[in-house]
Amino acid sequence: MGELRTTASTCCYCGVGCGVLIDSDGERIVGVRGDPDHPANAGKLCSKGLSLALTAQSDAGRALLPSWRPRRGEALQPIGWDEAYDHVAARLAAIVRRHGPDAVAFYVSGQLLTEDYYVFNKLAKGLVGTNNIDTNSRLCMSSAVTGYKLALGADGPPTCYEDLDHARTVLLAGSNMAYAHPVLYRRLEAARAADPEVRWIVVDPRRTDTAAMADLHLQIQPGTDVALFNGMLHHLIWEGWLDPAHIGLHTEGFDEVKRLVRDMPPAAAAALCGIREQDLCQAAEWFARSPASLSLYCMGLNQSSHGTDKNLALINLHLATGQIGRPGAGPFSLTGQPNAMGGREVGGMATMLAAHRDIGNAAHREEVAAFWQVGDLSARPGLTAVDMFDALADGQVKAVWITCTNPVHSLPNIEVVRKALRQAELVIVQEAYADTDTVAYADVLLPAASWGEKEGTVTNSERRISRVRPAVAPPGQARADWRIAADVGRRMQALLKPGTPELFPYTGPREIFDEHRALTVGRDLDIGGLDYALLDAAGPQQWPLPAGQVRGQARRYTDHRYATASGKARFQPTPYRPVAVATSARYPFHLTTGRLRDQWHGMSRTGRVARAFSHAPEPTLDMHPDDAARRGLAEGDLVRVASRDGQLVLPLRLTDELPSGSLFAAMHWSGRFMNSGGINEISNAAVDAKSFQPELKHSAVRVEKAELG
Ligand code: SF4
Repeated sequence: MGELRTTASTCCYCGVGCGVLIDSDGERIVGVRGDPDHPANAGKLCSKGLSLALTAQSDAGRALLPSWRPRRGEALQPIGWDEAYDHVAARLAAIVRRHGPDAVAFYVSGQLLTEDYYVFNKLAKGLVGTNNIDTNSRLCMSSAVTGYKLALGADGPPTCYEDLDHARTVLLAGSNMAYAHPVLYRRLEAARAADPEVRWIVVDPRRTDTAAMADLHLQIQPGTDVALFNGMLHHLIWEGWLDPAHIGLHTEGFDEVKRLVRDMPPAAAAALCGIREQDLCQAAEWFARSPASLSLYCMGLNQSSHGTDKNLALINLHLATGQIGRPGAGPFSLTGQPNAMGGREVGGMATMLAAHRDIGNAAHREEVAAFWQVGDLSARPGLTAVDMFDALADGQVKAVWITCTNPVHSLPNIEVVRKALRQAELVIVQEAYADTDTVAYADVLLPAASWGEKEGTVTNSERRISRVRPAVAPPGQARADWRIAADVGRRMQALLKPGTPELFPYTGPREIFDEHRALTVGRDLDIGGLDYALLDAAGPQQWPLPAGQVRGQARRYTDHRYATASGKARFQPTPYRPVAVATSARYPFHLTTGRLRDQWHGMSRTGRVARAFSHAPEPTLDMHPDDAARRGLAEGDLVRVASRDGQLVLPLRLTDELPSGSLFAAMHWSGRFMNSGGINEISNAAVDAKSFQPELKHSAVRVEKAELG
């Protein structure tokens, strides 16, 4: 055991991005504390952050050696790194030569560090020549990205965490912040305790722990958020609670939206939402007449077949009332994953290029191609998450490289994902854990370093870039994700484009970050002035931070000049549309999914800590007692819950947190814990037409007592 030392890093779970201090003896992590100097959390941690040391101390389930399956159906067998690299590079290059670059796809993760993301994006778009790289952030934030771009002209929130202290009206929409972003939730609680005038409006079909604390809980029917926001805007227009100067000077498109919401008076909106008209009107009044209104929103808006419209209808309220661009006011989407934002910054998605550039923009493609010295970039749209696995399933895509994510648990309609991976010619899985549902389909397993062992950066929900630092070495032969991608990339370049300028010359993450920040210069997220030295000396910084500045920018659009060509924000008409797959006589229940307090995603980390199960020891299907009574069901009964896409068996939990007709199941439980892939066995794969985000918040299902045989 060596000398005790402390390493400053960042929590690997949610988008709050809390700073942590890791105590280690050089070989083992012995403790994790909140970093009192980190601006995101000032020393606080939630239950997940507090269990980081326990998860990091366990090597259980870790992938330790590169391995491959000589034939499908055989067990994975260890091989050397060079052998694994050569095999992967040769197989991918052969598929590219035989079928073209779009026969290869990359599916990555908001858990990756920005530097990892950057290298994978360059590998796909710069070397292979395909835009088929997407990420599990597609399941998380893509509707928010599309909403910001359409309304404000650029991705990224205009707000910062300090706004939680200044807001007098807080509209929480589709966010159980008490569970999903606990440290921010505590900050919100403290602000309300300090100012009794502060009001919370919570929009959520469930009475979550967050909703239970609201001054006004709008328990809307699932999927009716757009009707609610349009009805609120109608009421604001009727009452004259608008900001005409902001609308006139700084926006465009208001008249069209005004015409649209004329057909959504509060009474009609309230009826659609299943709430009282007076509550809708009260929410509108508090929002418009408050000195500072902040909306905080998350998966309840995003994970929808019209998630972009939900975002836009909410942003319309901010634009109409001028509740944006000043302390305590603005639309603030909370990122689910620790580095969903960093992935967007490097353009690590099928729909974007580096530094918030667009694939469909020829000038943007030329800029990135010239910077990378690769001649040109493909203009063909890439496959987004759901479409990528559909294309694998029908044989259009032949090979997939999955990194740091478990799509056999997290994507909707898991059976299609399984079929896709069985059908693929080559499945490469790069993972820290060898026992995820997806590893079972790997032809090649590349063992990856995990949190506490990696170096790089992440960006949290308020655009703040923080350093992630290693406290211990990875176990076995696990390696950093960026390094694995770069090592394979060099071999593929020698096979596919010999003699061209070296694309992956990196010896460490600092060089990758420097290349990334150079690509941002002149863009809305310009971090030309931010390097590791500044982060180490001055601490985490928000973007933009162009050259010549020493501190990041807390808020954007404070002068109300937006990032559109005209400088004006754009009102967007958002007609109300129902969910993609309506309930019916055969499938009469609405099923929604969400997080538990102490677990994270597919539980590959938190599922190894006993105390993480004290809050919820087993998966359940939550149902209102009246619905159970009508069906002769009781607490603890095993029930079969089925959609048109699949079925699974769960124990029943009765609760009046849900309205009659609705069901809830946690998203976390995967095949490692139960005899099925989890709740996405039955979720439908309908996606939003603008953001391509799947509707994980709604499936039409039926429930019956399970006859176990
Ligand atoms: Fe980690 Fe999020 Fe908890 Fe902070 S709030 S400790 S970032 S899980």
